[in-house]
Amino acid sequence: MAAAAGRPPCLFCQIARGSTSTDLHYADEMVVAFRDINPSAFRHYLVIPVEHIPTVKHLQRRTEDYHLVNHMLNVGKTLLARDAPESMCYRYGFHQPPFNSVDHLHLHSLALPFIPRWRQVKYTTLGPLGGFIEAEKLLDKIRPV
Ligand SMILES: [Zn+2]
Ligand SMILES: [Zn+2]
Repeated sequence: MAAAAGRPPCLFCQIARGSTSTDLHYADEMVVAFRDINPSAFRHYLVIPVEHIPTVKHLQRRTEDYHLVNHMLNVGKTLLARDAPESMCYRYGFHQPPFNSVDHLHLHSLALPFIPRWRQVKYTTLGPLGGFIEAEKLLDKIRPV
């Protein structure tokens, strides 16, 4: 989707189009993946849809959205299995607004340990407040009936 006139273009849209110097570790017609520029863990990838979807709040219980998130999760798992097979623990999930940093949907794929350790607070679920939602939990929420 094109950025509205006058608005600065979305950085993640530019990355998805390959128009930045960011290394894409995975790319297909639906998603791309790259390393978080400010990693919180031993390995930390972001998997984003090529299409501009702002946040998890814009996802609905429908096949299309379920398929997209499931694909993002599979890409994240594949990258970490390849890049951090020795890690004992992996985390996959999304920040829910207002705790998201960039308004372009992105799956955090983390191979632990968190570095430094206090970074784990950023990836904690805050119950009814929201915070971080595990990818599997989001999939449960948008699984078509
Ligand atoms: Zn975007
Ligand atoms: Zn984030």
